[in-house]
Amino acid sequence: MQSLNKMTVEDLDVKGKKVLVRCDFNVPLKDGVITDDKRIRESLRTINYLKDHGARVILCSHLGRPKGEVKPEFSLAPVAAKLSELLGQNVAIAADVIGADAQAKAAALKDGEVMLLENLRFHKEEEKNDEMFAKALASLADIYVNDAFGTAHRAHASTAGVNAFLPSACGYLIQKEIEVMGKALNDPKRPFVAILGGAKVSDKIGVINNLIDKVDKLIIGGGMAYTFMVAKGYTVGTSLVEPDRVEDAKAMMKKAADKGIEFLIPVDNYVGDKFDENCECQLVDEGKIPDGWMGLDIGPKTVELFSNALKGAGTVVWNGPMGVFEWKRFAAGTEAIAKAVAESGAISIIGGGDSAAAVEKLGFADKMSHISTGGGASLEFLEGLELPGIAAISDKK
Ligand code: AMP
Repeated sequence: MQSLNKMTVEDLDVKGKKVLVRCDFNVPLKDGVITDDKRIRESLRTINYLKDHGARVILCSHLGRPKGEVKPEFSLAPVAAKLSELLGQNVAIAADVIGADAQAKAAALKDGEVMLLENLRFHKEEEKNDEMFAKALASLADIYVNDAFGTAHRAHASTAGVNAFLPSACGYLIQKEIEVMGKALNDPKRPFVAILGGAKVSDKIGVINNLIDKVDKLIIGGGMAYTFMVAKGYTVGTSLVEPDRVEDAKAMMKKAADKGIEFLIPVDNYVGDKFDENCECQLVDEGKIPDGWMGLDIGPKTVELFSNALKGAGTVVWNGPMGVFEWKRFAAGTEAIAKAVAESGAISIIGGGDSAAAVEKLGFADKMSHISTGGGASLEFLEGLELPGIAAISDKK
């Protein structure tokens, strides 16, 4: 396990210093308009701390996939405008990332002022973690702060390269991620229950294998549950199954049994005659999925089984929906589990990506202790992997 005892912004003397902050401003845009500014609002705490303490703040981020070329549709200009509005002060955007305009604007910053560099991925060197590019980025500033958890699992110049040239610390977002998820993995309040769902077993094998040594109960729902049903010897119609993962599923269930961990999979399912929101639908018990039908959500007996398992939990980690929650007809299972997690009174940690989207869409976001700001990054964290963007931040002395 990597060290999580990292320097934070509060450990730094930032007055009069130029601070390069890696943010996650990868926001959804439609015709140049930001359709959800959540990621920008989430970054304000770190930015406000720095500017209130007299730092000269240089923000940077990627946006979309411009693939190393300057493409105006991926400009961060709309983000600079939104930041200006939210901070109540002008946030200038540089015309480039490490070029003459970025350098001039950075050099002219006064204490408490904030600027934004252009999209880091306008340079192919960013994703290659090119040393010269990282050095050029670092040369704009005196200190580096990483607050982009969503890209912390990537070793890019702005996430893992600049640290070689500057003193570094994490911002509040990364600080909270490593505190909350680190505690869950290393010293959880028990009973510790993990709920895993979503489409694929293959995406979550690493997480299951890591958590199986730490949890008291493991709950499996969503599309990935059908591979476990096949491993138990059931037929599952046309449900999502990964045949090459059946042996892994068997091994996980055996390991759980050997360790005395409760391992729960669905005992009933809503099945459809095709993968379509308006399909014919019926409720069937475990082992009774008819030929030609596919499981699309967990049923009421499963909701009861899973909800009971959550009662009295000390810590819950949840990653992946219980069914095709994007379709209202098949969102009930995910919604019921969100409610059970919220009502369990446990420290509740929701993985980023689809799980976070589901909890937000279903209105339970404010009932959870922590919703991770990174999908892939939170999965890798829960797998126990070292995240390059976190490993590169200086440890506390
Ligand atoms: P993941 O990104 O692996 O967490 O998977 C999330 C996706 O899994 C969502 O888009 C869900 O619609 C999908 N999903 C959940 N349950 C099922 C299911 N029973 N069959 C097919 N897809 C599912």
